[in-house]
Amino acid sequence: MFAYNPAMRKVLTRFLAVTFTLSIAAAAQAPVLLRAAAVLNVETGAYTRPGMVLVENGRITAVGANLTAPAGAKTIDLGNLTLLPGLIDAHVHLFLHSAPAGQRVDEQGQTVHESVPERTILATLAAKADLMAGFTAERDMGTEGAGSADTAVRQAINNGFIPGPRLWISGNAISIVGGHESARGYNPALLIPDNATMVTGVNELIATIRQQIKDGATFIKMYETGSERMVNGEFHAQYQFTEPELAAAVEEAAREGTFVGVHDNGEPGTLYAAQAGVASIDHAAQLSPETMRLMKEKRIFAVPTFAIMEYFNSVAGGGRGTPSATEEYKAAEFRKQIAAGVPFAMGSDVGPFPHGTQGSEFTWMVHYGMSPLAAIQAGTIHGAELLRADKNMGSITPGKFADIVGIAGDPLQDISLLEHVQFVMKGGVVYKN
Ligand SMILES: [Zn+2]
Repeated sequence: MFAYNPAMRKVLTRFLAVTFTLSIAAAAQAPVLLRAAAVLNVETGAYTRPGMVLVENGRITAVGANLTAPAGAKTIDLGNLTLLPGLIDAHVHLFLHSAPAGQRVDEQGQTVHESVPERTILATLAAKADLMAGFTAERDMGTEGAGSADTAVRQAINNGFIPGPRLWISGNAISIVGGHESARGYNPALLIPDNATMVTGVNELIATIRQQIKDGATFIKMYETGSERMVNGEFHAQYQFTEPELAAAVEEAAREGTFVGVHDNGEPGTLYAAQAGVASIDHAAQLSPETMRLMKEKRIFAVPTFAIMEYFNSVAGGGRGTPSATEEYKAAEFRKQIAAGVPFAMGSDVGPFPHGTQGSEFTWMVHYGMSPLAAIQAGTIHGAELLRADKNMGSITPGKFADIVGIAGDPLQDISLLEHVQFVMKGGVVYKN
C-alpha cells in the first residue's frame, strides 16, 4: 500500500526537516526565570522562599531564593504560587472515558461500541486534560481493547503535535483466557474483542511481550488477579499467573530493558508478583507481611488507586453513603502497608472517571492516613523512580527536565490544592499559566 518512491521521499524528507526544526526550536528556547513564592524540595519537605528556578534548553539549571536572570532571559512572575515538580500519575487509562453523570461506566461497552480511531481521538483529549491538571508524566496501564494505539498518541506528543504528558505505555496489556478483562456474557459466536491480550503459558506470554514491545509498548502490564469478593470481612482475589510465569515475564521485560507492572489486588497473587520482582503492585488491597517485606527490600511500589474506588462508590454509585466493606478493608490495609515501610507511587486509575480530575488521589491518600509530604513524594520522586527516570524527573533539581507545576498555597497544609494546579511547564514549555 505504501510504495516508496523518490517523490514520496522528498515529502518525507521535508516533513522530517520541519519536525526536526520544531524540536530544535523547543530545545534552543531563551532561558526562563520563574519567580514564585516558594519552591518545595519534595525529598526533604523544605521550602525555598522566595522560590526561583532557572530553565535553559528544557532543563532546570538553578534553584534558589536569589537568582539573577542571565542576559536575554525571560522572567515569568508567578506571584504567590508554590512550585512543585510535575506530577506523575503511575496508573492511567487514556483510552477510557467517563460515563454520563449518574451512570456507571461500562469499559467493555467502549470496546464494543467505539472504533479504535474514535477512541484514539478521545485519548488525545484525555492526554491534554491530564497535562493541564499538572501531570507531566504518566504510565498508561493498558488501552483496554485498543491494541497498540497508545503508540500513536505517545509519538504525537513526543513530536510536539499535540499537548500531553511524557508517556510510558503498555499497549493492550496481558491477561489470561477467561480472566480479568475477558469479554464475558456474549453469544460465543460473536467476535467480541477482549480488553487485554489473553495468553496461556509462558510461550504465549513471551511471544505477546515481544509483540507488544515491537508495536511500541515501553513497559509490560499484566493482570495478576481476577474476580474479587469479601466473605465475612475477609478479602479474596483470584490469582491468574503463577510465580514462575511472572518471573519469566519480568526476565523478558528486563532483556528488553524495561519492567512489568501488575494489576494485583490480593494474596497469593501479590506475593507471587513480589517474589517475581515486578516494578509495581497496583491496587494492592491485600499484602501479606511477607509480601510487604519483599516490596520494601526490592523497592517494589504499591499503587493504591483510591480515586477510582471512591468514584465508583460516590458519583457513579449515586451519592456517597457509608464506605463499602471493601473501602474499609482497603483503608485499614493501607495503614498497615504504610507502617510496614512499603514504598508507594501515586496512581489514580483515571479514565473511568474524568481525565484531569485525578489530583483527588493525593487527597484520598492523605484522608486514609498518609502524610501530605509522603503523598507528594508518591506522585513525584517515587513515580519517577518507578519509571526508572529519576535522573530526569521527580524533583526541582538542576539537571532534570523543567517539568514544574504551581499551586496557590502550601500543599503540606492543604493537600487538596493539588486538585487545582494553576501553572504547568513541561520540558521548559509553558502549557498553563
Ligand atoms: Zn487500571
